[in-house]
Amino acid sequence: MTHAAVRRRVPVVVLGAGLAGMSAGLALGRRAIEHRIFEKASAPGGHVVTIEEGGYRFDRTGHLLHLKDDTLRALVLELLHGDALEVERRSVVWSHGVMTRYPFQANSLGLPPEVAYECVLGFVQAQASRSKPVPKSFEDYCHIHFGAGISRHFMLPYNSRLWGVSPQEITAEWCGRFVPLPTLEDVIAGAVGHARRDLGYNAHFLYPRLGIGELSAGLHRRLGHVELDKAPLGVDFRARRLVLPEGTVNYKVLINTAPLPVLCALLADPPDAIAHAARRLRHTSLYYLDLALDALCPADVHWVYVPEPKYPFYRVGCYSHFSTAMAPDGKDSLYVELASRAPPDLSRLMPEVETGLLEMGLLAKRGDIAFARVRKLDYAYVIFDHGYFDATQTVHSFLHEHGIVSTGRYGGWNYSSMEEALLFGQTAAAFAEEALKGRP
Ligand SMILES: Cc1cc2nc3c(=O)[nH]c(=O)nc-3n(C[C@H](O)[C@H](O)[C@H](O)COP(=O)(O)OP(=O)(O)OC[C@H]3O[C@@H](n4cnc5c(N)ncnc54)[C@H](O)[C@@H]3O)c2cc1C
Repeated sequence: MTHAAVRRRVPVVVLGAGLAGMSAGLALGRRAIEHRIFEKASAPGGHVVTIEEGGYRFDRTGHLLHLKDDTLRALVLELLHGDALEVERRSVVWSHGVMTRYPFQANSLGLPPEVAYECVLGFVQAQASRSKPVPKSFEDYCHIHFGAGISRHFMLPYNSRLWGVSPQEITAEWCGRFVPLPTLEDVIAGAVGHARRDLGYNAHFLYPRLGIGELSAGLHRRLGHVELDKAPLGVDFRARRLVLPEGTVNYKVLINTAPLPVLCALLADPPDAIAHAARRLRHTSLYYLDLALDALCPADVHWVYVPEPKYPFYRVGCYSHFSTAMAPDGKDSLYVELASRAPPDLSRLMPEVETGLLEMGLLAKRGDIAFARVRKLDYAYVIFDHGYFDATQTVHSFLHEHGIVSTGRYGGWNYSSMEEALLFGQTAAAFAEEALKGRP
């Protein structure tokens, strides 16, 4: 009899084997709580995978580890067998034909004088303004905190391209640590070339030498029991039963890390209010290109932010600058994140991409691209629109009442990091333990 056929009843079922799902599995195992993990894809890792082709290694765009929690750092290093690099960020902004230091809001040196003037003046005026209204949208937030120039030249165009929606449509609830707020001293220092501190949460990071997928591979090895190519057909939340193609599995607690709308669509006959809230959960997908270069990338940078709409991409990074093992000797590999959410037509797009990369100094000459691959992330960014909190709270509290904890970046429906995905998994296991105590 197969593993699946014998165990029709388990205390805990986990959906999804990305970092959150596998971390939950590890924490459940430590608590000796019996569980099964079902993963829809044929490999574990979710967004945290590395593909190898022709000696080039590609992640799913830049995936860098910013680990604040010492216990998690120790776990990650153990899972990677210590085979990781400590890296100091080299990121820049390409705007008005020049590379400037990141973040744009604190580094106007090098921009055309009239642009730098507009940015610094706007910042000073925003700081001096007596009226500090509560921002109604991310656009308001930018004007209040950064002023007109920085908003116009970077914050609004860049974020429109990243999120795929207008900054008026979203709130500023997501931005927290992701959008550094400089002081007046920072802005003045950055205008005259005297910047003394690295702003932002990602000034240093850890990166597995052979790509971020090594982290998922390490977790999977430790866990050993993910059931791949298995997605439920439905969730009978009243009976606490998962319907799989080969039969049903009863659970007491369900930990979901698949995207929240995916889970909602699986619920058998949910109340109207839940179905309605689920329809209000919005997200954007993302197309990006993996480029294998036949030569070295001449710019010594990790990634570049590109706010101007004349370019088809909003961010370009170099995997093999994180670790030289990501490309064959004497070659490099890039990821190019595309602003348009429409399926790309490579024959039309590649000349534009090549021209842009040449202009930015990321390619030495035409013909340096050995091959390009189009990739898609179906779930890239959860949209923090004005209905976000209401809809997510309605869905989560309903799920909780029925023994379902939906967590991770997409299961929880939030904007979070790999470290948080690992933490979310641990928290979900603790929730499951508590819930089981109260349930025979
Ligand atoms: C463009 C981009 C760049 C990023 N860069 C960074 C970075 O530099 N640093 C950082 O810390 N974080 C970064 N992140 C965030 C990071 O990718 C996530 O926080 C993390 O991977 C989330 O893990 P997860 O397990 O919650 O979700 P996922 O990785 O999405 O895992 C969910 C799993 O559920 C599976 N699944 C889906 N549907 C079903 C189903 N019906 N049944 C069973 N299984 C199912 C999926 O196949 C997947 O394996 C980035 C994200 C994006 C989009």
